[in-house]
Amino acid sequence: MKLKAGLVAGLIGVAGAAAGTPNIVFIFSDDHSIQTIGAYGARLSEFCRQQNVTPNIDRLAAAGALFPNSFCGNSICSPSRASVLTGLHSSSNGVPTLGLPVRAGTWMYPAAVRAAGYQTAALGKWHLGNTPANTDYWRLFPGQGNYWNPTVLGPGGEEKLTGYATDLLTDLGLAWLKQRDKNKPFMLLLHHKAPHRPWEPPTRYYRWLADVKIPEPPTLFDDYRGRGTAAHAQKLEIGRDMTLASDLKVRAGKGEHAAEFEAAFGTRNAAFEKAKLEGPALTRWKYQEYVKDYLRCVKAVDDSVGRVLDYLKAEGLEENTVVVYASDQGFYMGEHGWFDKRWIYEESLHMPLIIRWPGVVKPGSRPTPLVQNIDYAATFVEIVGGKIPDGLHGRSLVPILRGETPADWRKSLYYHYYDPGHGVMKHYGVRTDRYTLAHFYPVKEWELYDLEKDPQQLRSLHAESAYASTLTGLQAELERLRQRYEPGFDPQAPATPPPAEGRKKKAGKKKQ
Ligand code: CA
Repeated sequence: MKLKAGLVAGLIGVAGAAAGTPNIVFIFSDDHSIQTIGAYGARLSEFCRQQNVTPNIDRLAAAGALFPNSFCGNSICSPSRASVLTGLHSSSNGVPTLGLPVRAGTWMYPAAVRAAGYQTAALGKWHLGNTPANTDYWRLFPGQGNYWNPTVLGPGGEEKLTGYATDLLTDLGLAWLKQRDKNKPFMLLLHHKAPHRPWEPPTRYYRWLADVKIPEPPTLFDDYRGRGTAAHAQKLEIGRDMTLASDLKVRAGKGEHAAEFEAAFGTRNAAFEKAKLEGPALTRWKYQEYVKDYLRCVKAVDDSVGRVLDYLKAEGLEENTVVVYASDQGFYMGEHGWFDKRWIYEESLHMPLIIRWPGVVKPGSRPTPLVQNIDYAATFVEIVGGKIPDGLHGRSLVPILRGETPADWRKSLYYHYYDPGHGVMKHYGVRTDRYTLAHFYPVKEWELYDLEKDPQQLRSLHAESAYASTLTGLQAELERLRQRYEPGFDPQAPATPPPAEGRKKKAGKKKQ
């Protein structure tokens, strides 16, 4: 019987392919760094491969395209999500900081996908002041959502679920797929909370990696020499700013999982209290435990990816479904001594982006063009055969996915960070394939990095005479981008408080 059901579904899938209407599953995690994806070849990738952290995401990459130069335009949750939905930079969609609604009347891709005849579902973390319009089925985590026993908000109000959020969300997604109208193509948005702070893993991974040593970054004890005022003023250092209670689960009750928690971490915590670590030893301990909890959360996300891929295969949907794995920005895994995101610097600027599209994307390809979260909306709409509106900041990635990068594809990216969180100073800037130029306009400081010679961005070259013409050229390019994307922004203007709109918070409490 199973075989027969799979065959029928497969025939429907093939029919869909002939009609040019592939299904889409968009798995979007929160704060997942490229360093912790095996396939990425980033700092911890080799370690992650050895420890089997992301076998299913890696499986997706092997069968599809992995974008090594994929970036956000404003490295925090809500703004990145708004840029994905609208195809616009923060300057134009109403969401420069956290929890705000997308500006009324702004076009968003889900409506276009539904108008193209798709049935659609949006599940999980949304973190915007609006609930999804033009979506057939939606269940969202209010605000940031919780890892355990999360509340989900739907058209009928709130409902409390029992269990672990990453697993529950996958259950909801698969249940929706099972009951869908098989005569119509679908788009499923599976938007995980994990691995966002406070990095609470499922109990099944409490002990995993316990006896493993995570490789330290060479910049764990960065002193920020060679950088400007902003790097010295931040408050996102693992040693100083990461909390023992919530972040590292020392001296914290674990509610209904107290017994499992005590069994897994009781000895560790007792040894920690006894050792009375200070200075570099404390930072090293925190780094190890932070990254382990983060990876345990990532592992659960990877399990989810595996369940979705297995379902698609079992139902004969694999060949006619585009699967996208991405995360809303990058994250620091101890590089520069940091956790969190926000900066135009590499680790937070990167977004993982992997797309499998059988028959279109060459398996194992690594397209190198500079792509950005503003490109997702146009990409989805082109895949479903819808109409891409005029005026988007982003462009469809479909030509790149087909291996035909347009000659006029962008050579530089615009970036602007506006939030005051974690003491990270506002800045805007430009990234090309070789350089990063940032302007920390509250203190009128420039920083310039040559990524070829200084990939860790340890020394700003803005005052070096050998880079004078590079600096001038990049400043002109940044000004061109500002004029195009944000003409109302004057970096020379005196600092002003955010407008009243910037203080509204409809969807939950304000956090990162
Ligand atoms: Ca995020």
